[in-house]
Amino acid sequence: MASSPLSSHSSRSSRSSVDLSSEAQTRALEPLYTQVLNRNPGEAEFHQAVREVLDSLGPVFTQRPEFADAKIIERICEPERQLIFRVPWVDDSGEVQVNRGFRIEFNSALGPFKGGLRFHPSVNLGIVKFLGFEQIFKNALTGMPLGGGKGGSDFDPKNRSDAEIMRFCQSLMTELHRHLGEYTDVPAGDIGVGQREIGYLFGQYKRITNRYESGVLTGKGTGWGGAQARTEATGYGCVLFTRQMLQTFGEDFEGQRVAVSGSGNVAVYAIEKAQQLGATVVTCSDSDGFIVDEKGIDLDLLKQIKNVERGRVAEYAERRGTSARFIAGSGVWQVPCDVALPCATQNELYETDALALVRNGVKAVAEGANMPTTPEGVRVLQKAGVAFGPGKAANAGGVATSALEMQQNASRDSWSFEYTEERLAEIMRHIHDACHETAERYGQPGNYVTGANIAGFERVAEAMLAQGVI
Ligand code: NDP
Repeated sequence: MASSPLSSHSSRSSRSSVDLSSEAQTRALEPLYTQVLNRNPGEAEFHQAVREVLDSLGPVFTQRPEFADAKIIERICEPERQLIFRVPWVDDSGEVQVNRGFRIEFNSALGPFKGGLRFHPSVNLGIVKFLGFEQIFKNALTGMPLGGGKGGSDFDPKNRSDAEIMRFCQSLMTELHRHLGEYTDVPAGDIGVGQREIGYLFGQYKRITNRYESGVLTGKGTGWGGAQARTEATGYGCVLFTRQMLQTFGEDFEGQRVAVSGSGNVAVYAIEKAQQLGATVVTCSDSDGFIVDEKGIDLDLLKQIKNVERGRVAEYAERRGTSARFIAGSGVWQVPCDVALPCATQNELYETDALALVRNGVKAVAEGANMPTTPEGVRVLQKAGVAFGPGKAANAGGVATSALEMQQNASRDSWSFEYTEERLAEIMRHIHDACHETAERYGQPGNYVTGANIAGFERVAEAMLAQGVI
């Protein structure tokens, strides 16, 4: 009987794809990569994210030819829906401003589209698509019912007043609301979008729809439907994932010297959890430069400057005293450390940085940010035997806790901080073990990149196969 691309039981011998070795299968994906380049010109970050996943999947198609026959990865590379829209608003001086809004509804095989909104002047279609693509696999790794999506705007929130932020959020939601819903598409925060912005977005959604639909956005304030520990979850989760990696070679955070980049939501709570586990965190940064504090970052001071005053890290050095210095520009990865946690943005840890980290004896690197390490950087770290946790696994604690927020919203319940943190720790353990075991199963022990890509892909692929060609 001829095999069908709809069948999960297609016979191994019936199609040409099935007899290929893993290496040949990887080569067989080249035309798809070329198609992605041609269809999505100029979207460098999206190309980079697709390349990394395709490079991991060869062995899967050898073992599961039905995934190749049903063109699962070809379908995953094409978003289900892409929205681009105008966001007009009026600034404090009465001038009209026009920004561009994006929402990429990438894949809904496992649940409603889910992924944050980013407000940053660098946001463009390619960046939103790379983030949405990563999100598909990340959300699958959590084991929760979440599809993948991402959105945002090229709006720059820096130096904007609260009233301007509110008017911008209201204008964005005036268009975006028609595409959202707790069963359809559920945004959250990302760079430039925290609890303040989620509040304004939720308020406008509620006003337009006349529905108190708590589960339509996550990252809400804990007084009005937000989950305890959601704010902390991405940074905490990244450190918990790193701890699991360290434990595979008999180490823990106690006494380790840690370098963190960024000083936003993810960075601050990665610092907090690493310190709670007995590490000394000696760096943090923003786009102006970085801090080295040999005594360990004073988190109360950093939170006051970043979260309350919305200031710059340079002010930290001025107020901290002699233990800390501010160095303008990049270079945070030149600071010697045992563990490095890039928590700022994409492509912030280059090959030369990876070489410096290796030279200084780094043992583990885990990505709190999305795709902060360049492909060349990843290769250097892996070749040197450094435990490397890719973002789609290491920073999945944020979206996992968003799913816990949706769960609480659906049952009109709210859980304690301690219980939510326990659930987060359990999820991060599960993600670590899934990546570790999958890498071993496919003959690449210790390769968390392959493990994460394959484990995430398998879950999405099974669902897509079951749901037919859609
Ligand atoms: P925030 O806006 O809270 O903080 C971002 C931090 O990164 C700031 O310190 C910012 O400095 C710095 N930064 C941003 N862009 C650049 C740049 N081009 N060059 C240098 N530094 C930069 O964002 P988050 O902490 O929420 O997000 C950080 C990363 O984590 C992103 O990659 C995001 O996608 C990822 N992530 C976030 C999750 C979340 O729950 N928030 C979940 C999973 C991943 P400055 O103020 O100077 O711009």
